[in-house]
Amino acid sequence: MNPFETLIRDDIRALSAYHVQDARGMVKLDAMENPYPLPETVRSDVGALAGRAELNRYPDGQAVELKARLREVMGIAPEAGLLLGNGSDEIIQIVAMALAKPGATLLSLEPSFAMFRMIAIFCGLRFVGVPLRADFSLDAEATLAAITQHAPALTFIAYPNNPTGNLFDADVIRRIIESSPGLVVVDEAYYVFSRASFFGHLLHHPNLLLMRTVSKLGLAGLRLGLLAGPPGLIRELDKVRLPYNVNVLTQAVATRALQDMPALRLQAEAICSEREKLFAALQALPGITPYPSQANFILFRISSAGRVFDALKQHGILIKNLHGTDPLLEGCLRVTVGTPEQNEQFITALQSILV
Ligand code: PMP
Repeated sequence: MNPFETLIRDDIRALSAYHVQDARGMVKLDAMENPYPLPETVRSDVGALAGRAELNRYPDGQAVELKARLREVMGIAPEAGLLLGNGSDEIIQIVAMALAKPGATLLSLEPSFAMFRMIAIFCGLRFVGVPLRADFSLDAEATLAAITQHAPALTFIAYPNNPTGNLFDADVIRRIIESSPGLVVVDEAYYVFSRASFFGHLLHHPNLLLMRTVSKLGLAGLRLGLLAGPPGLIRELDKVRLPYNVNVLTQAVATRALQDMPALRLQAEAICSEREKLFAALQALPGITPYPSQANFILFRISSAGRVFDALKQHGILIKNLHGTDPLLEGCLRVTVGTPEQNEQFITALQSILV
């Protein structure tokens, strides 16, 4: 070992890296991407936009045009502050960095999006994960008690939750926001599929921030997320953002793509109806328990999950193995909803593995 590695913080060395699976040549159903290409109308403009882009210049640090487009298509009130990130991953990091006073706590639920915990550790925040109930619903009493006990500076709630796919009880989330001494970020990454939102509550609570991403809308490769909230808070958080975090091509292409929001929404609707077909197909297979989802993926439980995951890979199908990542996820695998053909390939492969 290089002795200089010991200079790296112990808590970082103890972490395992966020594992991105090698998907070359695979039917890729592991990462909650939209399986469809950009609508033709957008695609034909992207080349010209890239050709015209001033790549010799730094991007617009305030991304004025893109922010205006986001406000328009997502219905963000002019009174709300808006911060953009290189994916919502980066926004989680920005907020965590800004709140990482010595001894501060970041609270989330378990199981949930793995980066909440990882970023807490990166930023030196104490992480508290409150277990969900066995049916993946929010345990109101346990969560409110943990908030009283740990007084978190920051709480993240994914709505719908990843990897379970369910929407938590909105009333319980409201109680969490109201009883929290810290900031609460409601992460609506999968909004386009669930159509359930806390945007109506924005600015009614001085500690509520809402996070969205364009990744699940079919633009994951651009890396663009947003955070909306009380303008004073957003101004402070924005100081932690690196000045040019949203690059020139992302700004140009996202501004154009979001102009065709109806076409992107149609894709999301197609994914939702495919999700229901995929759910029924999983339910019809022996020994499989799929969990209802409001997102673009389905969590399911199966015996010998590890063996099934490996066998699917042998069939050229890549999903996500969650077995062993959380006590509630024993025997769980997660599949992203693909195109009708991909979903059929997945189900056919699964059937052949199960016989
Ligand atoms: N939040 C949740 C709940 C997610 O599942 C993901 C990604 N899968 C993200 C945030 C990050 O999204 P992105 O960085 O692509 O915007």
